[in-house]
Amino acid sequence: MINPQGLMIVLSGPSGVGKGTVRKAIFDHPDTEFEYSISMTTRNMREGEVDGVDYFFKSKKEFEQLIADDKFIEYAQYVDNYYGTPVDYCIETINDGRDIFLEIEVEGAKQVREKFPNALFIFLAPPTLGHLEDRLIGRGTESDDIIKNRIETAKKELEMMSLYDYVVINDEVDAARQTIQSIVTAEHHNRKRI
Ligand code: 5GP
Repeated sequence: MINPQGLMIVLSGPSGVGKGTVRKAIFDHPDTEFEYSISMTTRNMREGEVDGVDYFFKSKKEFEQLIADDKFIEYAQYVDNYYGTPVDYCIETINDGRDIFLEIEVEGAKQVREKFPNALFIFLAPPTLGHLEDRLIGRGTESDDIIKNRIETAKKELEMMSLYDYVVINDEVDAARQTIQSIVTAEHHNRKRI
């Protein structure tokens, strides 16, 4: 029998909502069977990050060549840097019947929706906008200008919530992780009936 296609799971939401932390909790959990799509970016590596684990770090020139070669499912410019999802690994994974998990910002998620309408779109939302501002300021890894820019972007990103299949409030990381895993399990059952 041919393997049914795996699910493309897209976790998105505003910067500072904790997508990275929830994603790490998902992949640290023994029940998780999704594959993670490692993105490419042109931003500088932060302390503790590893090339090929957190991101594939590329120069602007390399990234633009990959765009020209059509190597991304989606890509976006976010606060002066490129971020993109490499196409090959995603397609191989779903064709192999395994689920692939993308953690990306909202502009990229919009592009995925146009190309893969059957993907599962989950929006991670903060309990309030104040929570988001506190997180963006508290992270301490970025300059004031970048933080201000990220807050403005986050406000616009919150308006996109209604376009998603599910909204998960990130009140507590492990609860959000569990909710996301339950959504994926439920969707697998639902889609079997189609
Ligand atoms: P950071 O610089 O904090 O790691 O990520 C900044 C933003 O880029 C986050 O919202 C993150 O989810 C998003 N991001 C990470 N990888 C990708 C990607 O491949 N495509 C898009 N569109 N956004 C991404």
